[in-house]
Amino acid sequence: MRNFYSITRHELERRCRETGLPEIHASTLFKSAYKTLSDDPLGAPSLPHKMRSAVGDDLEVRLPSATKIQVSRYDQSVKFLFEMVDGSLVESVLMPERRRVTLCVSSQVGCRQACTFCHTGRMGLRRNLEAGEIVSQLVAANRWIASHPNWLVDLGLPPLQRVTNIVFMGMGEPLDNVDAVADAITIMTDPLGSGLALRRISVSTAGHLEGLAQMLSRHPDVRLAISIHSPFDAERSKIMPINRRWPLLDVLTALREAQTQINHGILIQYTMIRGVNDSLRHAEELVRITAGLKVKVNLIPLNEIDPSRFASPAATAIEAFRDHLHHSGLRVMIRYSKGQDISAACGQLVTENTFVSP
Ligand code: SAH
Repeated sequence: MRNFYSITRHELERRCRETGLPEIHASTLFKSAYKTLSDDPLGAPSLPHKMRSAVGDDLEVRLPSATKIQVSRYDQSVKFLFEMVDGSLVESVLMPERRRVTLCVSSQVGCRQACTFCHTGRMGLRRNLEAGEIVSQLVAANRWIASHPNWLVDLGLPPLQRVTNIVFMGMGEPLDNVDAVADAITIMTDPLGSGLALRRISVSTAGHLEGLAQMLSRHPDVRLAISIHSPFDAERSKIMPINRRWPLLDVLTALREAQTQINHGILIQYTMIRGVNDSLRHAEELVRITAGLKVKVNLIPLNEIDPSRFASPAATAIEAFRDHLHHSGLRVMIRYSKGQDISAACGQLVTENTFVSP
């Protein structure tokens, strides 16, 4: 059986054609699954009875069950722990912002990149998520919002009914699972389904260049975020092993090439770690290596997961770093992670009892 949420509308239309049903039923099915958020889209009353047997016989509507939902007392962000059919656990975080509601989704169970300061990185890779397992994180989050109308109202936010932005910044390296992620993006941006604009979807990568090329060929206008974390190649290899395969210089070259095709900026993620990458020398080098690129920099003070090893810099160091970038003409923001009280912050997504020894 295949997961219904892995199927694009075009595939449903093809199935309709092949069985002699009008294609319009594929649209009805999509609306029922992604707009009405029905838990039984194949049983929608507006569909002909034979639709399920004709096009959906091998399809199963698999919504993940939320085994744990925590709402942050500080910023009302919501962390979902989803259990997939095989028992795998993944996390998603829903973050209310001024005019948008962003969902941070996971793309893998664990991660194989093993960045030294990241909790998820210590799990190792369990498996890739299927497209439908990514899409269904969005469906489940939208269903939660719909059943908690006070959540938005209490925050003084406009009563948006749905997630407006997606960031692939949860568990996993999305470009290491690029086919499923690209399919998920196709489904999430379908105007007859969730209808998210591609420019509201950001894919964050540690620098997986093979996956990047594939992603840009599938979705040239998707927003890119790149985790740099050190502007010095040897140092970057120490904290991000992926740098040994795709060195910083190659990553920057790829971004320059990408920017000749895309006309929007690229987000640089820079997790600041005390005594590791927080000096002015690092700030200066970061400015130098990004020259000519249209970028915005997010400085993320480290969320400490192993304080004996890595610590967050002093506020003065973070501000001095920010000021240097700012005065050099870069757009820069300090991003304090949301949901600190519920371990929903960057790099803290990890499912219990799943450690491999570091
Ligand atoms: N694998 C992708 C997607 C993860 S996004 C990537 O590397 O971009 C999550 C972001 O949080 C990444 O920039 C990651 O490096 C960063 N991060 C990981 N652990 C962190 C921690 N403990 N504190 C702050 N940021 C962290």
